[in-house]
Amino acid sequence: MTSRYSLRKRVLVTGGAGFLGSHLCERLLAEGADVLCVDNFFTGTRANIQGLLGNPNFELLRHDVTFALPVEVDQIYNLACPASPVHYQFDPVQTTKTSVMGAINMLGLALRTKAKVLQASTSEVYGDPSVHPQPESYWGNVNPIGPRSCYDEGKRCAETLFFDYRRQHQMPIKVVRIFNTYGPRMHPNDGRVVSNFIVQALRGQDITIYGDGSQTRSFCYVDDLVDGLVRMMDSPDDCTGPINMGNPGEFSMLELAQHVLRLTGSRSQLRFEPLPQDDPKQRRPDISQARARLDWEPRIGLEQGLERTIDYFREVVAG
Ligand code: NAD
Ligand code: UDP
Repeated sequence: MTSRYSLRKRVLVTGGAGFLGSHLCERLLAEGADVLCVDNFFTGTRANIQGLLGNPNFELLRHDVTFALPVEVDQIYNLACPASPVHYQFDPVQTTKTSVMGAINMLGLALRTKAKVLQASTSEVYGDPSVHPQPESYWGNVNPIGPRSCYDEGKRCAETLFFDYRRQHQMPIKVVRIFNTYGPRMHPNDGRVVSNFIVQALRGQDITIYGDGSQTRSFCYVDDLVDGLVRMMDSPDDCTGPINMGNPGEFSMLELAQHVLRLTGSRSQLRFEPLPQDDPKQRRPDISQARARLDWEPRIGLEQGLERTIDYFREVVAG
């Protein structure tokens, strides 16, 4: 038994120096938790957590989750994994290892320490969906051998591991299927559509539309998503998910480009480029479970969220 001089909850956030992870660390500290942020800095940066480094309740550990982690914690948010197609396809074998071995290591840690463990899963488990919008009961339409498979199948296998650990060990697990989320602290070279369009618009560069721009996505602002993750962690043990989390507002990439051009006042032109292989044609979450079980729904619409994100990127681009 570890001796403890603090009654604060000890919370591990893997991928804590990334986009979502850094916002989550901030929120958990504000709620009075002791936060251990673990990251290998593949896509995360120290800049994302710069403001937290002086906080006595915050600790940073450079570590790769494909290796075991001998720490003592009460809760684990497992976010470690590159999320942008550009980055997860850079070293696909490492991406699968991060999802699968990272899940095994975090579940093993949770089993040993009796911690609750939450997996950041993804709408990509639905692949290129033939059911629209996507409810949690839909099993998906995923190519197992394409360029996106390292991410999609890695995340699907991680979900399997979470539910097998629960069946074998009766553990308190939580699986959240996150739909496209955006906001401040996305990396300017992240490669995802919202950051690409905003940075291109602010720099007066062409806006790169892949395909004809008719494919759709549903965009959730980061604060809403983080609130959902915390609600899920705090929910009763029988609330395991998988549960969809995202904003049901659905937009084509052409519509998104028009919003960004209008809100930035940019005169950038649209440039059409080839559609990447297996790019999902449509995506929108059915969030009725999150509404019913967690009393959660997004509060920040696309326009308001884009304005905040554009303000952030104006400073990044200027500096
Ligand atoms: P991100 O790339 O900004 O953050 C991922 C973090 O994980 C980075 O800090 C990275 O350095 C770290 N990391 C990667 N491999 C690691 C490893 N082996 N060991 C330790 N750290 C490692 O991406 P994000 O948008 O913040 O995504 C966070 C999580 O949420 C990911 O698991 C992602 O799959 C999931 N997710 C995000 C979205 C989204 O739209 N943002 C959608 C669905 C799912
Ligand atoms: N996309 C685009 N231009 C870009 C980046 C992305 O048109 O500069 C498209 C991409 O083809 C996809 C959508 O935007 O249809 C969302 O892409 P993102 O990489 O953000 O997320 P994901 O495809 O994983 O949902």
